[in-house]
Order: sequence, then C-alpha cells, then structure tokens
Amino acid sequence: MKQAGKHAYRSLSSKIFFRIFVVYFFIASVLTAFQMVDVYLRHKHSFMQKMDTYGQSIEESLGLAIWDFDEEKVDALSEGILKIPVVIGIKITSLKDGSVILKKGIVLDEAGDVDISNSVISNSAVDDTVDRNVLSIFRENLLESPRTIQHERHDKPVAVLVLYSNTATMFEGVKYSLLIILGSALLKTFTLWCLFTLILGRFLVRPLQELTQIVSAVRASSIKSSTFLREQKGDDELSVLQVAFHQMLTRLEDANKHIESTNQRLNQEVSAKQLAMEEVRVLNEKLENRILERTEKLEESDNFMHQLVESIPNPVFYKGLNGRYDMVNEAFKKEFDLQGTVYGAEANLMDADFLQDISIADEEKRDRKIISCQEVMSYEVSLKDHRGNLHELLISKAPMLDAAADCLGVVGMMMNIQERKALERELQTFATIDALTGCYNRRYFLEQSGKETSRGCRHGYVQALLYLDIDYFKKVNDKYGHQVGDRVLVQFALECKTLLRDGDIIGRLGGEEFAVLLPHTPMEAAIQVAERLRQRIESMEVKAREIVKVTTSIGISALGDGIDLEESIRRADTALYVAKSAGRNQVKCFQESNEC
Ligand code: GH3
Ligand code: MG
Ligand code: MG
Repeated sequence: MKQAGKHAYRSLSSKIFFRIFVVYFFIASVLTAFQMVDVYLRHKHSFMQKMDTYGQSIEESLGLAIWDFDEEKVDALSEGILKIPVVIGIKITSLKDGSVILKKGIVLDEAGDVDISNSVISNSAVDDTVDRNVLSIFRENLLESPRTIQHERHDKPVAVLVLYSNTATMFEGVKYSLLIILGSALLKTFTLWCLFTLILGRFLVRPLQELTQIVSAVRASSIKSSTFLREQKGDDELSVLQVAFHQMLTRLEDANKHIESTNQRLNQEVSAKQLAMEEVRVLNEKLENRILERTEKLEESDNFMHQLVESIPNPVFYKGLNGRYDMVNEAFKKEFDLQGTVYGAEANLMDADFLQDISIADEEKRDRKIISCQEVMSYEVSLKDHRGNLHELLISKAPMLDAAADCLGVVGMMMNIQERKALERELQTFATIDALTGCYNRRYFLEQSGKETSRGCRHGYVQALLYLDIDYFKKVNDKYGHQVGDRVLVQFALECKTLLRDGDIIGRLGGEEFAVLLPHTPMEAAIQVAERLRQRIESMEVKAREIVKVTTSIGISALGDGIDLEESIRRADTALYVAKSAGRNQVKCFQESNEC
C-alpha cells in the first residue's frame, strides 16, 4: 500500500509540478530575458551617454589643440581620456585630409591583453584589433562614440574623435543588475518549486495518498477508518471528499459488518442446505437405483408380456379407439398373412388393410358397442381377407379400461374354428343326410317335412306325400350282392332328385323305402309326379355284370284338412300296400275304403 501511495505521490506531483513549473519556467525565463535585455539596453544607452559626455568634455580643448597642431596637448588629452575606466581606445581622424591624427588604447591581440598605448600602429592594425576583439557584437552601436571636433572660433569641423570601449567594461557596470535579475528569477522559481511541492504534498498528494490507502484497504477488505483517517477540519473540496470518504468508510464498515453477519448466517444456511442437499442426493441416488431396478423389472415385465403375447398360439390384438391396431401378435400376423413387424404403435394397421369391406362393417359395429357399453363380447364370425380367404373365427373382445375406468380401446383374442366348423358341418351332414344316397335321413326328413307341413297349414296351400318302395329288392341283393344293391339305391335316389323340383323334400325312410313331400301340389299333380317317377325308375338301368333293372310302387296321400304328416305317411304307406298288392310297379292314391 505504501508503494502504491508513494507511486501515486510521485506520479501526481511530477505530473502537476512538471506541467506548471515548465510553463512557469518558460514564462519566467522569457520575462527575465526581457528584463535583462532591457537593463542591458538602458545601461548601454547610459554608457553611450557617458562616452559622449567624455568626448564632449575634451571637445573644446581637443579642437583647439588640433587647430594649433599642439601634439602634446592632444596626447595629454587623449591620455586623460584613456584614464577613464570605461574608455579603452581613442582615435582622432583629421577632416582636412582624412589622416589619423592619433590612435591610442588598450586592445587585445590574438595572444591576450597587450598594452599598445603610444605605440605606432597602422590604421588597419587599430581597426582590426578593435573590430575583432574589443567591439565584437556591439561594435557599431554601443562602444564606438564618434564626435566631430570643431574649432570654436571659426566654427569649422577639424577632426573626428572616436572613443572606444569594450563589452567587458560595459558588463562590469551591468553585471550586478543582471545577476540580481537572474537571482531573483531563480529565487522565485525555487520558491515556487518549494511552495508547489509543499502545497501539493500537504493539500493534494497526502490526502489523495490517504484516500488511496483507504480505497486499497477497502479493496483488500481490511478497512478500519480510525487507522487511516485523521479528523479533517478543512473546507476545501478535498477535505469534503475526505469527510465523505470517512462517512462512506464508516457506512462501508457497517455494511461490511452487516454483510459479514449475513454472510455468516448464509454460510450456516448454506451448510444446512448442503447437508439437506446431501441427504436429498443420497435419497435421490436411492430413488434412482430403485427407479433403475423398477425400470429393469418393468422392462423384464414388458419383455415377458411381449413374449407371453407372442407365445399365445391364438391371434391376440389391441385396437385403439381410432380403430388402429396398436398391437398384434405373431399368431395374428400368421392368421391374416401380414408381413413385417407390427408389434407396437408403429404397426399402424387398420381393418381395411387386411379385411374386405363386408367384414369390416360388422366388426366396427361390434367394436362401437363394446366401447360404448363396456361389455365383453364373444361371437363366431367368418371374416373375408383382402385375398378372398375366409377365416372362421371365434372372437372374444373386451374393453380395455384405464385406472379411471375410461375405455382406451378394445383387446381381443381370436380362435380359428375352421376345423371345428367343418366337423360340425360333417356331423350335421351325418345327422341329417343319408350317407349312401345323399337324401335326408328319416329323422331330418320328418323334421323338415314337419316344418313345411306346418307352413302349408298356416298358409293354407295343398301338399301331397309320396311313399316309394323298390319292388322285390331283396332279390336284387340276393342275385347281385349288396354292393350292387347299394348302387341301385344310389341311382334310384339320383333319378328321383333329378326329376323332383327344388322345393320338394325327399328322404330315405329306411332300407329301400323313400318318401317325397310335394309342397303346393294338389292330388292330381301328385299323381302325375308319382307316375313320372315310376316310369323313370322303370327305365333306369344299373350296370353290373349285367344290366340291373328295378321297379317301384308308390302310394300317395294328401296333407291338410286335419291330416298331419304322421297321418299322411300312414295313409301313403297304406296306398303303397295297395299298389304292392295290385301287382307292384303301380301308383295308388289313398282311399278311405283301403283302410284296414
Ligand atoms: P317287396 O317290397 O316287393 O314286397 O319285396 P322286397 O324284397 O323288397 O321286400 P323287403 O322289403 O322285405 O326287402 C327289403 C330288402 O332290402 C331287405 C334287405 O336285405 C334289403 N335292404 C335293406 N336295406 C338295404 C341296404 O341298405 N342295402 C342293400 N343292398 N339292401 C338293403
Ligand atoms: Mg320294403
Ligand atoms: Mg321292397
């Protein structure tokens, strides 16, 4: 800090002092020079006046002596003049012929001071030495004092008197004045230097140094106002600034104390918070680990669920509310021959992508019902895919609900029941159709004929029943074997079906006995049908080792008017018995008189 203060002191004083002192010194030098020149010029003027006065003092005597050619007197006068300290040389030139009457003086030659008075010297020698050494810079104006010497009686100029002096002589008289001027200038400069140094140091640099120390102390956070500041009593700006600094410092100390206490409190709070944060961090770490474990378990669970769903051999799917399949398993893809991975939302699969329109409409209707009514639905359906293949499926669908029981979509499972359906159809065939002839069996004939009979009774249309029995069939079996007998039965049924209408119902009631229900058929028409059947069978030929021919007897009875199917069969059988009795290969209608 001291170094900083010193540096500030030197720097500031140097700057201010140098600028002011240089300016002052320059001005003082110029003024001093002017003063010295002025003193010199005044002294010169005075010197010249004195020289003139000396010349004037001997003018009259000298003029007389020259006029009288009194050389001794001239010489004496010149000697007298030369004794005056300021006059170092004299020259008297005649105006009559321009010759030098007298030349005397102390002059300097090149080797130093040489007294040449009374010596005979040439004009040029006096002129040269005086010009070169004595009169030097002020030769023409200062030290040469010419005067014309006149003879007082004739008032006629006779000669020119020139007195010479030198600068050394003149400076002898002026040097003290110049020294006083120079000394006073130096004294003023020194005084100014001392004053500036003292004033700057006392009133500017030192306060600034103190302020700098304070600022440095404040900057170094070690402020103590009592250490650096003395009480200021001045009323100048710097004192006011110091007082302001003192007040500012005091406030800064207060603020610093407050900050320190606040800082301490904050440190405590920060420590407490750091502890809390550490606890939070540990908890967070534990939580993260648990989340990680949980995520791993969820991933495992998700993978397990994925594998589970994929492993289910039946098609499983999840369809969103927008009708898009968000999940389908491998079995589903296999069922509908869908290519690519379609597990997850990227499946973007819709019914229209693999089903024909006829199947889509019903499915959408069912889905809407499941979503709106939130009910589980199981149904058998045949879906036609876009390749035209039929999929017989048992589908179970249920709404997928979230925690708030809002429906998210439809989840479902399918079971392909194509084989079961085929089996059912086969069983149905076995249960209804005679395996040998393809006609209805007795039970199904009675069931179907019963329904038709009831319908006929309801609507009031006439019906007739034919009862057919192959004649002497036992003999066919006996003669050609059972296999041929079977072929005869098959051919017999085929011929009958070929001849009958679509609405007619034919059934094998047993052995070689058949019954035909003819809806909307009056008795006359029934007789014609029976006759055509009889003729057809009569002309039928079954190829065996030889042509086998058979005939059939047919009994006819009407239905309606209180005659049900059972009664009608009984009556037709009665008519058949009559036909058999009448010689076979005949058609007989039931007659009341035929009753046994
Ligand atoms: P009719 O009726 O003219 O009085 O003489 P029938 O010889 O036909 O007499 P019946 O009704 O007593 O004989 C029927 C025969 O039909 C007896 C049986 O062997 C034969 N039969 C019954 N069912 C079948 C069958 O499914 N296949 C063959 N091949 N024969 C059968
Ligand atoms: Mg029979
Ligand atoms: Mg028979």
